Amino acid sequence: MASFDDLERLREEGLTRVREAAGGEALRALEREYLEKGGVVTSLLAEIPKLEPTARRDAGIGANRLKGEIEGALAARREELLEAELAREAGGAFDATLPAAPSQRGSLHPITQVTREVEEIFTAMGYRVLDGPEVELDFYNFQALNIPADHPAREHQDTFWCDEEQNLVLRTQTSPVQIRAMETLEPPFRVIAPGRVFRNEACDATHEHTFHQVEGLVVGEDVNVGHLIGTLKGFLGEIFRRETDVRLRPGFFPFVEPGFEVDVRCPFCESGCRVCSDTTWIEYCGCGMVHPHVLRAGGIDPERWSGFAFGMGLDRLVMMRHRIDDIRHFMGGDLRFLTQF
Ligand SMILES: [Zn+2]
Repeated sequence: MASFDDLERLREEGLTRVREAAGGEALRALEREYLEKGGVVTSLLAEIPKLEPTARRDAGIGANRLKGEIEGALAARREELLEAELAREAGGAFDATLPAAPSQRGSLHPITQVTREVEEIFTAMGYRVLDGPEVELDFYNFQALNIPADHPAREHQDTFWCDEEQNLVLRTQTSPVQIRAMETLEPPFRVIAPGRVFRNEACDATHEHTFHQVEGLVVGEDVNVGHLIGTLKGFLGEIFRRETDVRLRPGFFPFVEPGFEVDVRCPFCESGCRVCSDTTWIEYCGCGMVHPHVLRAGGIDPERWSGFAFGMGLDRLVMMRHRIDDIRHFMGGDLRFLTQF
């Protein structure tokens, strides 16, 4: 039972407990314990009439002051807790100093990146960028490119047939765009056609059913092999960002005559490395002077016009540049691979 002798101790204890109350529940409990019926302060006040008349005044002042102080402390602590709560809530939404929630940012596929780069280099050289259908007629994919039905070259390009009666294939190369360009454009012209191509073959580290090529075609008067070599050297120098030696070897492609295989000086070494199999040369692209049959198939007079064409793998280019050892990564859809670019 609280007594007036203890007033100072009760005051200290009461105020400390209120100041340290952890929340609304605790404050409500303290309010009951001190101020309500049967509580510490209320009981003291109830004692006053029983005291000696001379003591009543001081007792009344003391008890009422304690009551006021406890009430004041409760209100102050309530306010304090409310402010802390608001600050906590506001902090979650608006605190600019907190680290941001991590967000995933996309990136362009490495093939898309290199395709854009190739397009920029060639458009700077005056080329137009063309697109062609991925589902193509046999005529454009083979016949017009000097690959008739019985030609052995067809066996090297394992073809996905969409509809054999209608002669529809998934294009095995970007070369059919050459014919479409000749049909629609008036020479002289320069075009490139990057895009997806498809081969029905077993997939391994260097073979994929879907891959990417860029085709180039220049038709004009007196276009010759020197122009072709100059163009490829210029392009490869840009794409590898350094002066690049190229070497031409005779190569056979039905749609060019003469045809060449182009080797590029290995961009990774001076005296041989794993990428170039210690030869310092990397076999890179096929090219040549457009075969008269092909010009004719495209409606262009080979007596008046000549041209060169080249085709190269874009996957191969990205693989060389980033030393990627398996072509299947490109279409694999693994974000761990793709987010590196
Ligand atoms: Zn090398």
